[in-house]
Amino acid sequence: MRFTGTMKVNEKGHLEIGGVDTVDLAREFGTPLYILDEAEFRKNCREYYHSFTEKRPDSLAIYAGKTLLTTAICRLVDEEGLGLDVVSGGELYTALKANFPMHKVFFHGNNKSPEEIKLGVEAGVGRFVVDNLYELYLLNDIAHAQKTRQAILLRISPGIEAHTHEYIKTGQIDSKFGFPIETGQAIDAVIRALELENIELKGFHCHIGSQIFELDSFAHTVEVMTEFMAEVYKNTGFMTQELDLGGGLGIYYTAGDNPPAVDALAEVIFNTLENQCQKLGLKVPRVVVEPGRSIAGPAGSTLYTIGAIKDIPGIRTYVAVDGGMGDNPRPALYQAKYEAIVANKANAKPVKLVSIAGKCCESGDMLIWDIELAEIKPGDLLLISNTGAYNYTMSMNYNRLPRPAMVLVGGGRAELIVRRETYDDLLRHDLIPVHLKNRKVAQIY
Ligand SMILES: *Cc1c(COP(=O)(O)O)cnc(C)c1O
Repeated sequence: MRFTGTMKVNEKGHLEIGGVDTVDLAREFGTPLYILDEAEFRKNCREYYHSFTEKRPDSLAIYAGKTLLTTAICRLVDEEGLGLDVVSGGELYTALKANFPMHKVFFHGNNKSPEEIKLGVEAGVGRFVVDNLYELYLLNDIAHAQKTRQAILLRISPGIEAHTHEYIKTGQIDSKFGFPIETGQAIDAVIRALELENIELKGFHCHIGSQIFELDSFAHTVEVMTEFMAEVYKNTGFMTQELDLGGGLGIYYTAGDNPPAVDALAEVIFNTLENQCQKLGLKVPRVVVEPGRSIAGPAGSTLYTIGAIKDIPGIRTYVAVDGGMGDNPRPALYQAKYEAIVANKANAKPVKLVSIAGKCCESGDMLIWDIELAEIKPGDLLLISNTGAYNYTMSMNYNRLPRPAMVLVGGGRAELIVRRETYDDLLRHDLIPVHLKNRKVAQIY
């Protein structure tokens, strides 16, 4: 396993994160346990702050909350000078409760409910990123009722679909997100937005995908978007003030992943944008980016206790841990790959090829297929790295497994930022109707 952030091996041969021994973490907080490396999370925020806001003071990096969001994380993001992208009333409520500055909040989502829109307008979020005409008119009405004018970006579907190693230039018209350029619906939305009294159009947003390694695909996106901006200017006289290019920068998960630096991303974006704006006679707009995975991903890891080990001779050795798809659905959802280490034997040589199974009643609940680990026995601790993004936020209670706790580690301290769910938490929303309440077991059987 490649170490990230503040990971190191201490004199006991145990893996340490943030100056805290993972064996102590398991003893104090139990497993499975999400561990968040505060220094690494802050460092990743800072890279975006330096590469964007410090270099071009009008630009803004906003952290994509769907990656990993709790009230403590809102505080960290705010301290590091980033804004926040939310996609639901629940995420917005989290930001409100954490006193996150609302003018730096961008409200996303392809089907915001009237209640969510009202909450956002009342809270004073900086931008609504409007996805469709239904939302545009609903937002205008709600803003009118509140006697305010809401600043918005229109989400544009640029016809680019990016993947880890390549991108497709067309073929993404078929998407549930945004107004497609090619069909003329994007320019139509601009014309409509400019007519609405309680809407203030600032510019455009797009997001081409996630876990992207090719900076080319970002350059191409800037080209497509600036060409659209020029068309908008020609047809309506509206000069784009703000261009939000979404998130998507990839991270290292396993060997072969070579993500570019944040600074290189910023350079490609600014250079392409300036060239294009000059060529097309546009004013250079304010740039917004929305990193998620590249901030939270490498800062998180998950600590498990190894239980049953099943050796099927000549076939495979299954090593089962006390969590699985409930706390990390990504391998089951999209064959995501991870690395791991035996945390209490972090110096020991990998000697055995095994596969890591979760404890859910699904054959597909496998966390890692085929990984070389040190000699292991039940009770050993397994740490899976780079689980900071899209793990906790995608977690679930399948099989009524309580969700893990999350600790923030740094400077030799560990602070609980999400407490472990209890069995009673699992029952919190259960109700028994009266007619089922008083049956005696004896009457049934
Ligand atoms: C998911 C998403 C992001 C964050 O993407 P990452 O790949 O995690 O950086 C940003 N903006 C929008 C609109 C998204 O949907």
